[in-house]
Formats: sequence, structure tokens, C-alpha cells
Amino acid sequence: MHYQPKPDLLQNRIILVTGASDGIGREAAITYARYSASVVLLGRNEEKLRAVAQEIENQGGLPVRWFTLDLLTCTPEECQQVAQQISMHYPRLDGVLHNAGLLGEVVPMSEQKPDIWQQVMQVNVNGTFMLTQALLPLLLQSEAGSLVFTSSSVGRQGRANWGAYSVSKFATEGMMQVLAEEYQSRHLRVNCINPGGTRTGMRASAFPTEDPLKLKTPADIMPLYLWLMGDDSRRKTGMTFDAQPGRKPGIAQ
Ligand code: NDP
Repeated sequence: MHYQPKPDLLQNRIILVTGASDGIGREAAITYARYSASVVLLGRNEEKLRAVAQEIENQGGLPVRWFTLDLLTCTPEECQQVAQQISMHYPRLDGVLHNAGLLGEVVPMSEQKPDIWQQVMQVNVNGTFMLTQALLPLLLQSEAGSLVFTSSSVGRQGRANWGAYSVSKFATEGMMQVLAEEYQSRHLRVNCINPGGTRTGMRASAFPTEDPLKLKTPADIMPLYLWLMGDDSRRKTGMTFDAQPGRKPGIAQ
């Protein structure tokens, strides 16, 4: 995507990123802060979140707060508690990037282990839903909220061996569409990003023999992440966007 955001694109915007401790989420949090957002980090690993917060502050970003929540084990009550803690420090959320995700096993359906299937559904769908429900009141305090889910090419077209992950990403697309329609007249837009093959730990575990240097980095795909959080995408809702348009999905590079 060719997009040249203004340096202050996200000034006065408060943006929460899940899975902010690593990979694409870490990069998105750092990038949003670089474009003047006040960033809230969510993840399950305190030490990694602290390091990301420190990096943002070292780069001159606004002070960062981080909150821990394990999407694998979280209950609706825990999600409400996190939302409550956030509301003690922030009057609203202008953006939420649901980025945390679990790959599970890349094996045929007949071999998918039911417990791992459930873990993938729990993190990618159920936990994400519960957290969304808890954060909606804060998002609705914004004049122009942006709720962004993270999908995948296998969330639009099923592909052999992608089992629970693929099914969970179809569910993610569905969750986005339902919410987009429910909030279309309420200053809240809801969309999905498909990052496309990106150089992260998750990609390396899905394609262990691939040369990671042939992949785009998280930094390369940030233009779309910025666009969806800033005013330039204000009229878009209920849509799914490719961060790497034209890239053929599902192919090891
Ligand atoms: P990574 O594995 O690098 O990062 C995943 C992030 O999610 C980490 O911050 C991780 O935390 C967090 N996370 C995982 N499980 C939990 C949990 N139980 N509770 C809270 N946080 C959790 O993945 P990517 O950066 O590659 O992926 C980011 C998103 O992009 C995912 O939704 C993925 O499905 C999607 N995607 C990625 C593609 C790619 O090629 N990389 C392609 C298409 C989609 P921790 O640091 O503690 O492990």
C-alpha cells in the first residue's frame, strides 16, 4: 500500500494493541507511538511488554501503559477488570487492534488435536470476543473509533492443513462483519487486516524451511495499519484489507 501518513496522524488518539509483545503487534504499537498516538499494550508476558513500553519511550513516544491478559485462560470477568483498569487511566479508546493470535497445528483435519483446536478457538475467537465486549464502552466514547481484527488469507478461502487456524480466521471475519453492521451509525468502524506472509515467529513455525529474508517485515506492512487507525479511513467499515495486495497466499517464499 502506498500511503504517506502525516507525522501527527494519530495525535490525540489512544490506541490499544493486543499481542503487543512480539511480531506484528509489537511493530504496530511502536509505529502508532511514532505517529503520535498514546499507546496501550496488552499481552500475556509482562517482561516483553515492559521492554516494548521502554522502547517506545526511548524513541520519544508518549508514556505507555501495559496490561497483562492471557487470552487462552481469560474469563469475561477478567476482561471486564482489564477494561475497568484501562478506564481508570484513559477516558476512551480511539482504536483497538486485535492482533494476538495462535497458529496451532498445520496438519490435516483428521489429525488436528481437539485440545489444540480449542486453544486456537479460545485465543483467536472466544477471548477476542470477550475482550471486545469489555472494551466497546471505551471505544464508543471516541468520536471516531476504529476496531481492527486480524484475519488471514485462510480466513477467506479454506486451505488443506490449516484446520483450526483457518476456521478461527473465518470466525474473525464474521465477528468483524456483525459488529460493523451493529455499529454503522455509531461512530465506530470495524474492519479486518490480512497481513499476508510476514517475517515473524508465527510465520517461521508455519513454514520452517522458508528463507525469512524473502518475506516482508512487520515494518513493511505498517502503512495499512496506520491508515486504518487514522482519519483517512473514517468512512470504511465492514471491510477486509490486504496489507500486501497482490501477494499470492499460502506459498512459502
Ligand atoms: P507472533 O507469534 O509473532 O506474535 C503473536 C502475538 O500474540 C505475541 O505478542 C503473543 O504473545 C500474542 N499471544 C499469543 N497467544 C496469546 C495469548 N494466549 N494471550 C495473549 N497474547 C497472546 O505472530 P504474528 O506477529 O505473526 O501474528 C500477528 C497476527 O497476524 C496474528 O493474529 C496472526 O494470526 C496474523 N497473521 C500473521 C501472518 C504472518 O505471516 N506473520 C499472516 C497472516 C495473519 P507472546 O509474545 O507472549 O508470545
